[in-house]
Amino acid sequence: MNRVYNFSAGPSMLPLPVLEKAQKELLNFQESGMSVMELSHRSSFFTNIITEAESLLRQLMSIPDNYKVLFLQGGASQQFAMVPMNLLIKNKKADFVHTGSWSKKAIAEAKKFGEVRTIASSEDENFSCIPKVHSSLIDQEADYLHITMNNTIEGTVFQDIPDAGSVPIVTDMSSNILSEEIDVSKFGLIYAGAQKNIGPAGLTVVIIREDLIGHAPSQTPTMLNYETHRDSGSLYNTPPTFAIYMAKLVFEWIQDLGGLKVMEKMNREKAALLYQCIDESILFTSPVAPEDRSLMNIPFVAANGDKDLEAKFINEAKKEGLETLKGHRSVGGMRASIYNAMPKEGVEKLVAFIRKFEQEHI
Ligand SMILES: *Cc1c(COP(=O)(O)O)cnc(C)c1O
Repeated sequence: MNRVYNFSAGPSMLPLPVLEKAQKELLNFQESGMSVMELSHRSSFFTNIITEAESLLRQLMSIPDNYKVLFLQGGASQQFAMVPMNLLIKNKKADFVHTGSWSKKAIAEAKKFGEVRTIASSEDENFSCIPKVHSSLIDQEADYLHITMNNTIEGTVFQDIPDAGSVPIVTDMSSNILSEEIDVSKFGLIYAGAQKNIGPAGLTVVIIREDLIGHAPSQTPTMLNYETHRDSGSLYNTPPTFAIYMAKLVFEWIQDLGGLKVMEKMNREKAALLYQCIDESILFTSPVAPEDRSLMNIPFVAANGDKDLEAKFINEAKKEGLETLKGHRSVGGMRASIYNAMPKEGVEKLVAFIRKFEQEHI
């Protein structure tokens, strides 16, 4: 079997045991005589899958009872609009922290629905750090404060969640959900596209505090109203059944490993290995401020800016089974995305390759 170490930012690697389990159950799920893909979303088989998926996610993230878990579609990008459609209601004002390409898109979309203020930005630093968000900056009249917790493209992460007082914090956790323990109660709403750390593309997870549901104006399209999905247990229409099933298998895999505490420890070890290697390297360097570095997405560039050298590195790495290391088209260089499913051996192999490449090129 020729599986590679895939450093893609998303869709990204899935845990091998999860793929194997799905393969085993593919043709005949639990003696139903069908694949999960062929099951009615109203069948007891699927009801068990979605109920179990929610319950596992609740356990893993210690989600308090006053939060709803919704399984939606449309990606994080649809949440850029759905959040303001449902939450930018009372005072029609929201505060945003601008930390990169994804926050830029979230800001642009929210502007269509109300008054949006950017209260802090790291744009002048090329998004190489997370700006300080002192609570005095936050408008206490704002309907919410939005942060992009982990910046997938730029490789930064909020180490501390701002203190927003009574203003609910909405966060895009697409690329760091389930990577470490977080206190859900600090947030009003958490959203994440599944294709980074949860499962296949096509599923979007929303964790929302109950009191934030039910305020959307009556002309809000049914499918874009959180209330619809709360009231139907995410089964208003046909949900992405197979993606929810895969997410359930991933949640089980994390639980079997020991939950988020263990996951976080493994992620810290993997990231430390790679950062140490980059920091020791003469050929390569990290563009990200050490205190704001992501555990999930690790960009690095040729220290002398040599684009040809970067291209050569990416090419030769691929030959070694280290794939998709090209940086995002907006920033260039390299980026290693090392989500939960990336085994430590994958990172070790990348580190060894960086060292070998460096030997040959200095
Ligand atoms: C990938 C990503 C998105 C876009 O997700 P889609 O599911 O493709 O809409 C948004 N925000 C962050 C932080 C991401 O990593």
